[in-house]
Amino acid sequence: MIEVCALASGSNGNCYYIGNESEAILVDVGISRRQIVDRMRQVGLSINKVKAIFISHEHSDHSRGVRVLHQKLCIPVYMTSITYNNSRDENRPEKYVHLKVGEWLVIGDIKVKAFSKSHDAVDPCSFIVKIGEKTVGVMTDIGKLCNNVVYYFNLCHAVFLETNYDHQMLMDGPYPLYLKHRVASDRGHLSNNQAVELVEKHGSDVLKYIFLSHISQENNHPDIALKAFDKLKGKYLIELTNRYAPTQVFQL
Ligand SMILES: [Zn+2]
Ligand SMILES: [Zn+2]
Repeated sequence: MIEVCALASGSNGNCYYIGNESEAILVDVGISRRQIVDRMRQVGLSINKVKAIFISHEHSDHSRGVRVLHQKLCIPVYMTSITYNNSRDENRPEKYVHLKVGEWLVIGDIKVKAFSKSHDAVDPCSFIVKIGEKTVGVMTDIGKLCNNVVYYFNLCHAVFLETNYDHQMLMDGPYPLYLKHRVASDRGHLSNNQAVELVEKHGSDVLKYIFLSHISQENNHPDIALKAFDKLKGKYLIELTNRYAPTQVFQL
């Protein structure tokens, strides 16, 4: 059995839970320890099962809670040395384990592999997590559909996939022009349409669950992100994530 849950997803904070009966990992800790514990309790997950933490990049919405969580749990935090060295002091755990991109890491029955991607961070990576025969991707904060994203997406049975913005809403929205360009650039975020393109072109036959993730509050709306995926609804289970609340726990 594999259980996945987005405890938080969006610019307020990101935290993704992936586990089996006896152990689990968290990808990103962009909310507080207290919020993590509360949200896990709400959906019946136990923090005691979490055996390791993985941090994708230094942006605070992915790392602001990791220092305190690490202090309390005393479990390893994996992040690249470059990411660690460029993290804000208050977001930096006391200790970390250097994350080797492109190599499998084994946490009990869970295997995790980080891969590089394009985003405006110093050493950004995303993850695939393998438990038994099933592979779960955590793919947010992605500027473009690079070869790595395409390759690892194709392996996924379930994926937390960024649908950050609707292009028209971004262009018509409140952001200053330079920020609009940054979000839409190759080092920014994935739009609804880019995510749909990825699924249409590279979703494999084993792909079942797509969790629409990191949805912008200003430049997107859950209904609009869902609508973009309308044509794929027959083939996949499309679910929303939320910045303020955990999703239900999905079993794969
Ligand atoms: Zn982010
Ligand atoms: Zn980011």
